[in-house]
Amino acid sequence: GTDAFGRPQISNTGQAYLDAKLPIRHRVEDLLLRMTLEEKVGQMTQAERGAVTGDASLIKVWGLGSVLSGGGSVPTPNSPQGWADMVDRFQAEALKTRLQIPLLYGVDSVHGHGNLLGATVFPHNIGLGSTWDPDLVRRIAHVVAEETRATGPQWTFAPCVCVARDARWGRTYESFSEHPGLVTRYASSIEGFQGTRSGELRDNDRVLASTKHYAGDGDTRFGSAAGDYTIDQGVTVTNRRDFVRIDLAPYVDAVGRYDTGTVMPSFSSVDWTEDGEGNPIKMHANRELITDVLKGKLDFDGFVISDWEGIHQLPGDWATQVRTGVNAGIDMFMEPNSYQSFEITLLDEVRAGRVAQPRIDDAVRRILTKKFELGLFEKPYTDRTHLGDVGSAAHRALAREAVAKSQVLLKNSGGVLPLKKNAKVYVAGRNADDMGNQAGGWTLSWQGATGQDRIPGNSILEGIQQAGAQVTYSKDGSAPTAGSDAAVVVVGETPYAEGFGDVGGPEWPWDPEDGGVPREEKSLELQPVDKAVVDKVCGAVAKCVVLVVSGRPQVIAPAQLAKIDALVASWLPGSQGEGVADVLFGKRPFTGKLSHSWPRSADQEPINVGDRNYNPLYPFGWGLRTK
Ligand code: BGC
Repeated sequence: GTDAFGRPQISNTGQAYLDAKLPIRHRVEDLLLRMTLEEKVGQMTQAERGAVTGDASLIKVWGLGSVLSGGGSVPTPNSPQGWADMVDRFQAEALKTRLQIPLLYGVDSVHGHGNLLGATVFPHNIGLGSTWDPDLVRRIAHVVAEETRATGPQWTFAPCVCVARDARWGRTYESFSEHPGLVTRYASSIEGFQGTRSGELRDNDRVLASTKHYAGDGDTRFGSAAGDYTIDQGVTVTNRRDFVRIDLAPYVDAVGRYDTGTVMPSFSSVDWTEDGEGNPIKMHANRELITDVLKGKLDFDGFVISDWEGIHQLPGDWATQVRTGVNAGIDMFMEPNSYQSFEITLLDEVRAGRVAQPRIDDAVRRILTKKFELGLFEKPYTDRTHLGDVGSAAHRALAREAVAKSQVLLKNSGGVLPLKKNAKVYVAGRNADDMGNQAGGWTLSWQGATGQDRIPGNSILEGIQQAGAQVTYSKDGSAPTAGSDAAVVVVGETPYAEGFGDVGGPEWPWDPEDGGVPREEKSLELQPVDKAVVDKVCGAVAKCVVLVVSGRPQVIAPAQLAKIDALVASWLPGSQGEGVADVLFGKRPFTGKLSHSWPRSADQEPINVGDRNYNPLYPFGWGLRTK
């Protein structure tokens, strides 16, 4: 039957799996018994929305278990309503299948429902890490879950619990900390996404979490042969003891304490030989770590979702890659474009006996269990109750609080901060009034929102203006500084998502704003344009405050530091720049503390708390306070 909107409904014709009163385990087994091999393989397959937007019936034809929004080519709806309509349209196709198994829709809501224009954009993890406040991070995840679920998707590819050990790694901004113990505490975000009690996943303000990237993604060796240009795909050169202590640690709580629904393996490899001369094993092929450790020792009962075409990087031909991935223990495959050939190939492999039926049943059982826990069989369509709360004032207030708490005051000579509310302030720098740079990667597009729709919210400049200061703004610092009490110079990085290599094609490692410097060569140095504006402005005012908007520590040369009176790590604050103004003008105190060591020079990397001869510019835990 169909509902009032003409959408197909799940019709209960007496099958046990459709009986909501039965225990989920019972329902899963009943459904599994009814499924053909083709239907099972379909459930293990995830396509990208771009591949099914033109013809949504492909979801039915291929019996797809899931669809994701990735870096696809098809424009994303730009309203909450548009999103819900899109996801429901896909869902309607899934419900036309023989067994009416609902679709699971996944997105990268990694610092807000970042794909949706108008969603609240929170600081990236590196900023949240500096708050030392796991409860705040839990509350944020709950809001992100609400904004996401209200618009359709029931699944987010977050949190990233990478322990970034080398700030040159391109995804350092997704790392809460270099310290595994601190990262583990922020696994609390899983609770915010999924809820704490069993049964909460079905609520209209919760989503399934995906803890990623399992494991060792942040601990890859920089500059190793495999890691040079594809930095989130490098090699973790380690031994089993260090791997457990550093890379695996957050997963112990993510699984055992917070019950993460899914885990995503890393593009990176692990090499146990310590000298880096061994045979690196890709995580997507790592049966020991996925099946024996994660599902065995850690007792993970959710499902494993491969990363974007992750198995395409495995050795061997396509059939070997598919077989290796499934036999390693991956349950669902993110195959944005090759989903059809994935299904065909996996069917062949099972029929030829190279993949065992029980492995398929194990994968499908895990996937179906989460679909039942999400309540999708009872309520497959989007519950739009919270649609109006997307980007609400209350959500933005929470983001503002997080921004303020994430600011780390590194230097404050003569107590120049906080500034007086009605101060005459000269604002300069290319990150002062740039919402895209302020939000970083995974915002509106994979590589961040540069030159696109302006993200609703406030830039740092607007926050300063709203705080009541008398502002002169000059992006390049060329206007006269005459009469200003202080200057706020906002410098730093431009957005990127997954490193500085050539993995994304020739168009994106090049940053026109930096005069065409390939991103991979940026290292951690401030760009020339940033150095110039700091020199110009700080040389001309009595009190010079420099804010660094970046996804990782930036190297500040001693000569430059000497000219700076107050230095603040602002990280990637997201949509609410007024949170920065709150601490600058003393509305809130500075309380943030570094969760990553701040090096003197790039060649100090990797530098981490606990190292021998540890001598960073600002150590782990550093952060001055104001009243
Ligand atoms: C990234 C993941 C992300 C996935 C889906 C991959 O390239 O490594 O972190 O969840 O894309 O967008």
